[in-house]
Amino acid sequence: MYLYNSASHRKEVFKPNNPKLITMYTCGPTVYHYAHIGNLRSYIMEDILEKYLRYLGYNVKRVMNITDVGHLTSDADTGEDKMLKGARREHKSVMEIAKFYTDAFFEDCKDLNIKRPDVVEPATNCIDEYIKIIDKLVHTGYAYLAGGNVYFDTSKLKQYYVFNDFSKEDLQTGVREGVGEDKNKKNTNDFVLWFTKSKFENQALKWDSPWGVGYPGWHIECSGIAIKHCGEYLDIHCGGIDNAFPHHTNEIAQSESYLQHHWCNYWMHVYHLNTPEGKMSKSTGEFLTISLLKDKGYDPISYRFFCLQSHYRKALLFTWKNLDNAAQTYSKLVNRIALIQNDGKLDEQAYAKFAENFHSALDNDLNTSSAITCLYDVLKADINGATKIALIDNFDTVLGLKLIEKSEDIKAKSKSLKAKISTSDFEIVSEEGEENPEVEKLLLERQAAKKEKNFARADEIRNHLSEIGIEVTDVPKGVHWCRK
Ligand code: AMP
Ligand code: ZN
Repeated sequence: MYLYNSASHRKEVFKPNNPKLITMYTCGPTVYHYAHIGNLRSYIMEDILEKYLRYLGYNVKRVMNITDVGHLTSDADTGEDKMLKGARREHKSVMEIAKFYTDAFFEDCKDLNIKRPDVVEPATNCIDEYIKIIDKLVHTGYAYLAGGNVYFDTSKLKQYYVFNDFSKEDLQTGVREGVGEDKNKKNTNDFVLWFTKSKFENQALKWDSPWGVGYPGWHIECSGIAIKHCGEYLDIHCGGIDNAFPHHTNEIAQSESYLQHHWCNYWMHVYHLNTPEGKMSKSTGEFLTISLLKDKGYDPISYRFFCLQSHYRKALLFTWKNLDNAAQTYSKLVNRIALIQNDGKLDEQAYAKFAENFHSALDNDLNTSSAITCLYDVLKADINGATKIALIDNFDTVLGLKLIEKSEDIKAKSKSLKAKISTSDFEIVSEEGEENPEVEKLLLERQAAKKEKNFARADEIRNHLSEIGIEVTDVPKGVHWCRK
């Protein structure tokens, strides 16, 4: 499998440290607000990676943090703690906010069929880990105390910028955006490992430390939690592209200085979901959530489908029209699957051929849009129903589009509706006087779909009939059909 590695700037063959267990770390949500659908694009793509690794037969240990302390409004260690901001906004305690939005995040994940990571660790659970790492960094000269805080000294590194897909100027942007330069820093890119002196005395969560009562910086959380659960050598680290700098750059700096060896082999970054106005962001307060999509009548899985239609290393433009198109295509896809007769014996040769194409698509840096094309190739193929269903089921263990489940739901619904259509009110007439229970069944299903306003299904049934040479004409009392 080839995976693009942001650290080497090229696609590389994926080789795990230990083929028996792959370790994968994902930056989790900052739980001061709902996740927006941009954040969720990142989690969907990371879910695809995890599922594909499992599909290839690997055991995966996936770890995710929950940022419930230390993430300031500017990534450059200035501004106020986002959690505190959330608590103030809602007149609740930081812990209440953290619990509420953590639960909401996992509800969204459930709706999007994103698997829960094997380990989910709130940052506030691992204070001892951070203190241990910071202590060693202070003693080995990689960190210094200034103005009451502990800083990482980036001048001690041979190479600080690792993801140099960006220019040095671009990388500085995060720093310049700060609400005010921190005068205690020796170098512009130095970052806080431990805060004791902060502008906001009312910081809710504080812990004792060798450097005074305070709280950890945001970056140290991910290093601490990843090392705690994945050990000293990490296979894959994931996150959105905005995390590459400074967050991941700082994670590498502190982890490798602490461990004294190379830490993580593959860095996967998901590009942003943008709106025509720009990047979707929680801090602007204007963002779209999964519950909003649900309120507007969208099936959350159709948002997953929308994301899979494009490559994760390309920015994705969200508009309602784009989502509508994806939702319609998804609905048609499920309805088409619902029409497959699960008959015949598994054609092993055909199965292997189509599965091979699917592997090749995902082996190429998780090309999900090609993988979806492979799915349509199966639908169009001249193979029996049992082989089609087996392939769709197999592909969906990675795609996670609930294809079989949703098509079964449609069939069950249409069966019960069909039973309610009285054949005396709805006439089915063959122009040639032919009796054909199979065609009649499909025509009843089409009528049921229309009654239910599932026009995608009604159209699929008409298309399917046309493909098998049956022409349908609607008449006031029912439907007439004939062979073309
Ligand atoms: P946060 O909750 O802000 O810490 O972000 C959670 C994850 O979402 C991180 O991996 C971010 O890099 C990612 N992310 C933030 N904004 C977007 C966006 N507009 N599109 C895709 N991913 C994003
Ligand atoms: Zn992180």
